[in-house]
Amino acid sequence: MRQKYHTVILGAGESGTGAALLAHKQGLSVFVSDKEKIKSKYRRVLRKYKIDFEEKQHSEAIIFKANQVIKSPGIPDNISLIRNIKNYDIPVIDELEFAARYTNAKKICITGSNGKTTTTLLLYHILKNAGKKVGIAGNMGKSFARQVAFRNYDVYVLEVSSFQLDGMFKFKADIAVLLNITPDHLNRYNNDFSSYVNSKFKIIQNQSEKDYFIYNADDPVIINELKRRNIEAIKVPFGNIPVENSLGAFLYENKIVFNNGKNKFNMTLEQLALQGKHNQKNSMAAGVAGHLMDIRKNTIKQSLSNFQNISHRLEFVASIHGISFINDSKATNVNATWYALEYVDKPTVWIVGGVDKGNDYESIIPLVDEKVKAIVCLGLDNTNIHKTFENHVKTIVDAESAKEAVDMAYYLADKGDIVLLSPACASFDLFENYEDRGEQFKQAVNEL
Ligand code: ADP
Repeated sequence: MRQKYHTVILGAGESGTGAALLAHKQGLSVFVSDKEKIKSKYRRVLRKYKIDFEEKQHSEAIIFKANQVIKSPGIPDNISLIRNIKNYDIPVIDELEFAARYTNAKKICITGSNGKTTTTLLLYHILKNAGKKVGIAGNMGKSFARQVAFRNYDVYVLEVSSFQLDGMFKFKADIAVLLNITPDHLNRYNNDFSSYVNSKFKIIQNQSEKDYFIYNADDPVIINELKRRNIEAIKVPFGNIPVENSLGAFLYENKIVFNNGKNKFNMTLEQLALQGKHNQKNSMAAGVAGHLMDIRKNTIKQSLSNFQNISHRLEFVASIHGISFINDSKATNVNATWYALEYVDKPTVWIVGGVDKGNDYESIIPLVDEKVKAIVCLGLDNTNIHKTFENHVKTIVDAESAKEAVDMAYYLADKGDIVLLSPACASFDLFENYEDRGEQFKQAVNEL
């Protein structure tokens, strides 16, 4: 008879390996299964702790006997393996759900279609500067489970994606932050926007009247959804609405007013380290979360002013012969690109394209009409871009590498212009990932 394990982990990446370590530490018998070859750094860890694993296969005879399965968020719910596990009534959960069972630390959880990483890092920066024992996890760095196993933090800032939320049931955020909801990843939600919205709203599941829900009050999808739902948590909006006397963060003239119900302070937009309208929102969300944690106003202000921008998000690369090059490779959907085009204030040569997830470019046409003088398509199939913009932009050319795109853009731009890489698409047709695309772009610019 095959061995029986209490916990089976599907996927031996950072989250799966972390979950395996935590399960092992908790004394659960654990088996890790990965359909691909496991990266050597993770294989080494599993061996070191004598955790059983397999690679390049899933042994159903073992998996179907587990008491619980922890699934990597990268594995879709609708594949037959997962459907079969569920048919056996075996709970399939996310690593965040699992790890939360073993910590009493406060959890501040940030989700949204765009801005998660930026806001998570901003808030981490605030809490760290305030001297808190704080960990950062979710989609970045060391997994939450691994930190719960080996660290002793008082508070975690967690970046949470909709795929993770889909595997979270009893998890509760002490402070939930919902940045925005715009179409993305709809292929994983049967092209049904409402099920993606429901998934994002799981960020507030199980919250009580003692918890906080920070949300973007300018986002029509969120506001509409709030009308339909009964929210238990204390609602903390941020945005353009001038409601000075309620909790939250609000834009008032050129200032952001922060109010946590005990005290208020404000900050001018110029003081923010991260520029652009979207970053005003991210700064408000992070600042208000810090304020609710009773962090002193000077620490919040300083942290929001001295934060160092992260790569591939509206990152200034260089100015060459008066042409500014901006790397926004992380813009993998239309809304992120909307903010990039909103941000640029000079005639722009726009590099766009890649794996189109069914993009609807309608919302950015006015910005393109106003600011874009030429388009360089950087993807294998650029049909949608040509079709959408041929009557709006005179020059549209195709490139098949970052270097070719940069050379073409440089040729098309004049002194004083901007060359913006903001692809609105995934990168997997020509690049390993968005980082690779951004790095190749920067290298090509630096070689000009
Ligand atoms: P995520 O982790 O949600 O993907 P990032 O902080 O990595 O978010 O940013 C992804 C892309 O979205 C970047 O191009 C960035 O400039 C843009 N962006 C950041 N914050 C926002 C926001 N609040 N709204 C829209 N776009 C944003």
